[in-house]
Amino acid sequence: MSKSIFSGLEDLGFDDIDEIDLYNTKKKEIKKEELLELTDEEKEIKLLYDREITCPVCDNVFKAKAVKTSAARMSGRDSDSFIRYDVINPYFYDVWICNKCGYSAMKSDFNKLRGYQIDLVKEKIQPKWRPKNYPDVYNVNIAIERFKLSLLNYYVTDSKPSKKAMNCLKLAWMYRLLKDTENESMFLKQALEGFNSAFFNEAFPLYNMDKFTSMYIIGELNRRLGNNDEGSKWFSQLITTYGVPSKLKDRSRDQRDLIKEAQELEKGVDKLNNVNSSEKQNTKEKKGFFSRFFS
Ligand SMILES: [Zn+2]
Repeated sequence: MSKSIFSGLEDLGFDDIDEIDLYNTKKKEIKKEELLELTDEEKEIKLLYDREITCPVCDNVFKAKAVKTSAARMSGRDSDSFIRYDVINPYFYDVWICNKCGYSAMKSDFNKLRGYQIDLVKEKIQPKWRPKNYPDVYNVNIAIERFKLSLLNYYVTDSKPSKKAMNCLKLAWMYRLLKDTENESMFLKQALEGFNSAFFNEAFPLYNMDKFTSMYIIGELNRRLGNNDEGSKWFSQLITTYGVPSKLKDRSRDQRDLIKEAQELEKGVDKLNNVNSSEKQNTKEKKGFFSRFFS
């Protein structure tokens, strides 16, 4: 800041104002630098806050970590609705755990517990539960452990298939972050089984998904698991059903095209194998391999 701004005030006693920072910009700059110097973990801590929760099973009041709504920055979305985030991953903080009794659930379900389910947690979870102190910031492995705990609670409390399926889908996504395709497939399969059952037996929405979105997810999980014919059936139904939003129809067309491409490639491999009969390759094995590879 130049001295000239306040020149003329010297006679009034203000003669020591050479370096005045009128808008305190320097202070702000320092703050910015301080932020840059923070480690990733320190940055994440700043993006979290504590929510006070009362456990519906044992009335214990505890603090659950939550991501500030302004903090989550989306960087992309996979074809099965998995959202990719920068900086902080809200999925890591999706499960709340009561450290006193062990009751755990995804946060949107946490308080939706019926009387008989409370008794089931008291009977089957609480006596076995060993409290655990988690660090200030969670990572993907902690998230997997917490999602598994909530899945165990959904199982023990005989929760709706849609809840178990959504929990399994989120577990599959966590394994996708780890590039652990074996576990990802195992949980995608479990999710598909649950959504299939929920689709025909539960009222919509299924875990916030309306009927058409549920159909799309079932089609997409089939496709990802290499059940190409089944996947095509769901996508075709969406494409030809009146009232399906055009965006969802477009996405269904894209996914059905991917299946067609994979099937064409499989046919090509079959032909190749037939020509190359002297080697007697196992066509079935090839088929399986390619359907997995291109799913
Ligand atoms: Zn509790």
